[in-house]
Amino acid sequence: MQNETILHVGIDDTDSPKGMCTTFLCYEIVKFLEKQEIQFMDFPYLIRFNPNIPWKTRGNGAVRLTIRAKDPKKIKNKITQFVANYSDTKNGANPGLVFFQSKEIPLQFHKFSKLALWKLISRTQAKQFVSENNIESFYLGNGQGLVGAISAVGYEFSDHTFELLSYRKKSHFGKKRGISVDSVRKMQSTLPETFSSYDNESDRVLITPHGPDPVFYGIRGETVKSVVRASTIVNTDEKLDGYMVFKSNQGTGDHLKNELQIDDLKPFTSGFLVGEVCNKPLIQQGGHVLFSIQVKDRKIRCAVYKPTKITQVAKDLIVGDKIKIGGGIRKASKNYGRILNVEFLHVLQLAKHNLITNPTCRKCNKRMKSKGNKQGFECIKCGNRSLSKTTLEIPRKIQCKLYIPAVSAHRHLTRPYQRIKKRNKNIQFNDSIPWMHVF
Ligand SMILES: [Zn+2]
Repeated sequence: MQNETILHVGIDDTDSPKGMCTTFLCYEIVKFLEKQEIQFMDFPYLIRFNPNIPWKTRGNGAVRLTIRAKDPKKIKNKITQFVANYSDTKNGANPGLVFFQSKEIPLQFHKFSKLALWKLISRTQAKQFVSENNIESFYLGNGQGLVGAISAVGYEFSDHTFELLSYRKKSHFGKKRGISVDSVRKMQSTLPETFSSYDNESDRVLITPHGPDPVFYGIRGETVKSVVRASTIVNTDEKLDGYMVFKSNQGTGDHLKNELQIDDLKPFTSGFLVGEVCNKPLIQQGGHVLFSIQVKDRKIRCAVYKPTKITQVAKDLIVGDKIKIGGGIRKASKNYGRILNVEFLHVLQLAKHNLITNPTCRKCNKRMKSKGNKQGFECIKCGNRSLSKTTLEIPRKIQCKLYIPAVSAHRHLTRPYQRIKKRNKNIQFNDSIPWMHVF
């Protein structure tokens, strides 16, 4: 078969908060494709883009399939039908679908995809991209889904993880999920080969969504083998339809890799800043912590939210601490200008915490009393005198290290502690372990 028969398919935004899920649509498409004259060239991709944009559905995730097809026209027609039939447009889904037929993906796709990781990209830009590059596409609603569909096709991995998503039978959609908590705890022993499955601190299962979507659970891990094996440990109360394993950028911190430009902090962008703490952190009602950092000659307010559990660290920052912080820019509100919502906090250098106090009497080890303005200090016990105040260095409670939110507050893209130094090299696609299985 020739190059032309390689087909990349990008799909996004077929779901709404009320139901469906783009990965499930992808699972249904793969079920169909398995009966066709095609060959899978790669794992299905589940790519998460900028989580700080306002109109995302749940996790702002798009999917991609890459196949070799004998009759690409037929396949494209059928996939378009799938997208039209399965999308929850009644409840606000704005699906986008992109086909790209070539082995190599052009540079402009990669560029577009990189920007979608941390920027706000409008549907107008996506529609422009489609027409300028003469790309086969389809959309419903306002076409916002084209942004993710193009970006999924253009995505390039620099690190990756896998997620096994198991799907419910239709008869169970919307019903409560019954899962053995013990089995999830047991499955968690496969960490670090799997991650973010269970929160020991609050005794909470993290692999099951709570909404009406068709996903029963998702297991995140480093290899196809590790997630498939882990799934055999988990027990559920209902018979599931099947599973599919996606190659993903989840757990890679992908959206926080670029340095934000302090003089161009557009709302809804994600990235990092390096600067110096320039005011004393304030604890807000509700336990959130606000402080500001100075980057060059500008100051930006930063917010650390209570559920992240790094408020403890944030409130111990002092003026002069050098830090690197990652997160998303929140739009200005009535009371505040733009704020960076902190998603990680890396202390680079700690300032000395000096406290200027009355001197201590060397003999009695007691704090001296002031004799009045410019009159010096006196020990009330023995009468010893001293002229000036002394400086006391207070030990710091925080360290020069990276602090990330508690696992219960992680986003799909958050790089967990056990992945801090881990980078998976792009592995060759293979079928040796079934990445898709219908029970
Ligand atoms: Zn004394």
